[in-house]
Amino acid sequence: MKTDELREKYLEFFETKGCVRKPSDVLVPTWDPSVLFTPAGMNQFKDHFLGKVKLDFTRATTCQKCLRTGDIDNVGRTAYHHTFFEMLGNFSFGDYFKKEAIAWAWEFLTAKKWLAIDPAKLSVTVYKDDDEAYGIWKESIGLPDDRIVRMDEDENFWPASAPSEGPDGVCGPCSEIYYHLDDGSDVEIWNLVFTQFNRVGDPPDNLKPLPSQNIDTGMGLERTASVLQGVSTNFHIDSLRPIVDAAADVVGVHYDPGSDNGRRLRRITDHARACAFSIHENVYPGRDKAKYVVRRLIRRAVLDGYQMDLREPFLHKLVPAVAQASQTAYPELGETIARVSEVIESEEKAFFGTIDGGMKRIGQLFEEMNEEDAVMVPGKEAAELNTTYGVPPELLQTLAAEKNFTFDWPGYRDAMHEHAIASGAGQVELFQTGPLETLKEALRETPFVGYDTTEATATVK
Ligand code: ATP
Ligand code: MG
Ligand code: MG
Ligand code: MG
Repeated sequence: MKTDELREKYLEFFETKGCVRKPSDVLVPTWDPSVLFTPAGMNQFKDHFLGKVKLDFTRATTCQKCLRTGDIDNVGRTAYHHTFFEMLGNFSFGDYFKKEAIAWAWEFLTAKKWLAIDPAKLSVTVYKDDDEAYGIWKESIGLPDDRIVRMDEDENFWPASAPSEGPDGVCGPCSEIYYHLDDGSDVEIWNLVFTQFNRVGDPPDNLKPLPSQNIDTGMGLERTASVLQGVSTNFHIDSLRPIVDAAADVVGVHYDPGSDNGRRLRRITDHARACAFSIHENVYPGRDKAKYVVRRLIRRAVLDGYQMDLREPFLHKLVPAVAQASQTAYPELGETIARVSEVIESEEKAFFGTIDGGMKRIGQLFEEMNEEDAVMVPGKEAAELNTTYGVPPELLQTLAAEKNFTFDWPGYRDAMHEHAIASGAGQVELFQTGPLETLKEALRETPFVGYDTTEATATVK
């Protein structure tokens, strides 16, 4: 089944259950300061769950554009993580609850008329204390005990880890559905969240029951497509493989999935898609928040290209392939190809201008560290690499991790802060990209006062 067909089938199925089909929210929801990018389908419905808006519907279904910066380092490494991906969701606002959510997910996945997945390939997890969900999977669905696993907060409470650690907001226990692959591993395809609480403040009394019991579910479009298409990674499904092939063409290498270059091409594919969708929404590479993430993604992809011997901008050439692969659901991408390509190319140019020096310096640094038996990249060096060569600290951290070095984040922040003071706020960025671009940017934007967008705060889930 083609990815486009799967998306449509899902929405159609839930329409037959009385859900109203709603459009995707934007990828960068400036109306919601608590996230940089939309992390999940439920994000646009937070106020609905809190009972803050008057509803003219109590059941909805969407296909939501999502981006998770927390997954950047998974991309290319795991078979099933992207930064940008699509999440299919069905939602109940005080209407249907666990019994229906579970039964309908099962029906959609296994019924002949819908996905016709072999039920023997599916297993589920439930939150450890959720006897109700356990009972439904066992009694109504008929799953044997050994395919219903009880898990703790880290896995089966959404969003994020333990109730004591997760962010404030609507949340609840969840039940995840896994598909068993031929290689013996299991891939999570769908998460059913029983949204019952509003988390406010610290435990133990921080879980306040919501005015009503709700359902929020998220099924990964690309993951489910890869299961249905029997391919070994999401990147080989019909809507992504053409971009991978276009990347191989543009870079001028053969795509060998198991090789280092294979991993690089998948990352380039992911980042090209994420950047095309973000820039389409006018989120340009820049110095903070979502813009900084876009910059980081472009620079990460440029580094991959550099490691495959490219010395000229290339990523922007993939924008038409992204638009083409996404045209059924997102025809609007086709209208901004020129603008989006230009923005990416100019950011690429800027980084290509300094990357040679940066890579040389990084090589030296790692050598020095080896000689001195050092294990942590000093924050001061990282700050210098950023200010002089435009190397984002997260990128350096990734390169360092490949050599088993850790990264001194507090030291890095201190050094950047000192640098900003010493050179006058605003000047740090002047060295980050090409002089012309940065000058334009410096004039356009507020002064640089230090990074607040590290992995921790940029993580959206
Ligand atoms: P995982 O444990 O694999 O990281 P998750 O538990 O973080 O996934 P959820 O937050 O439950 O994911 O999101 C709902 C669904 O969205 C998942 O079951 C999966 O199918 C899909 N999904 C989540 N993260 C990604 C991603 N980075 N790329 C592609 N699909 C994803
Ligand atoms: Mg995850
Ligand atoms: Mg999970
Ligand atoms: Mg999950």
